Amino acid sequence: MNGKIFTLRNLYQSGTEKLEKAGIREAKLDAWYLLEYKTGISRAVFLADPDREVEEEKAESYQKDICTRARRIPLQHITGEQEFMGLNFKVNENVLVPRQDTEILVEEALKRIRPDMQILDMCTGSGCILGSILKFGEKKQMHLKGTGCDISEEALKVARENNSRLGTDARLIKSDLFESVTGKYDMIVSNPPYIRTEEISRLDEEVKLHDPWIALDGKEDGLYFYRLIVKDSIRYLNKGGYILFEIGFDQGKDVSELLKNEGYEEIEIKKDLAGLDRVVMGRYNKE
Ligand code: GLN
Repeated sequence: MNGKIFTLRNLYQSGTEKLEKAGIREAKLDAWYLLEYKTGISRAVFLADPDREVEEEKAESYQKDICTRARRIPLQHITGEQEFMGLNFKVNENVLVPRQDTEILVEEALKRIRPDMQILDMCTGSGCILGSILKFGEKKQMHLKGTGCDISEEALKVARENNSRLGTDARLIKSDLFESVTGKYDMIVSNPPYIRTEEISRLDEEVKLHDPWIALDGKEDGLYFYRLIVKDSIRYLNKGGYILFEIGFDQGKDVSELLKNEGYEEIEIKKDLAGLDRVVMGRYNKE
């Protein structure tokens, strides 16, 4: 006991300063999220009563989290969660932290779901794409059936936990791309690794050091996984089935071309909120 009194306000201020000094871009926001995570207080309570005292133990634990964040450990690895499509997903260092951009992919998928569709999520990671499609499908009484696959057993553990947290009934299997996939699907969704290897070193430290490398690396030209997935996908799609990919901002033309060459039709590119190409879709109308 050193007798120091901690208040919400002084913890938040010192947390913000420490993160600013460490060069964290969203210092204020991150200092706030960590305070909310640690103390459970809402923004409204904070504003109404900023001088509320915080128990020493909680305060010290907050300061410890701030130090961890100052070392560029992603916020989500500290809190163990990330919101996506308004749902809460468990995350850790074995999965790519869900990005807001990926919600565009889910929204496009949701526009195309029909009752009883079989959905395959290739490279499922945390399972956030499949999980939110199934959850929103449930609300529309779509009775969708979902399968997610990933090469990483560690990622599948996270996807399984998210599946049970959401109360969805996805089948989650370990598979190197289609290797262990069986059956036919009406929609394939995928956010595969798509960063060119030499570009990874230029990403934020949080991403290049703490997101799993295998979730980022799309090899030399970034298109490695699209090529393999597109090529095999047609054997797993029912007639009229859809494929939807998340892509990097400069990959729209190349991925559209891959789809076209494999016989896909109705190819469309969708932009994200920043106005950059983010999703490519196509439909396979052959038997
Ligand atoms: N969008 C992610 C990023 O910018 C990468 C996702 C991926 O490779 N699938 O870091």
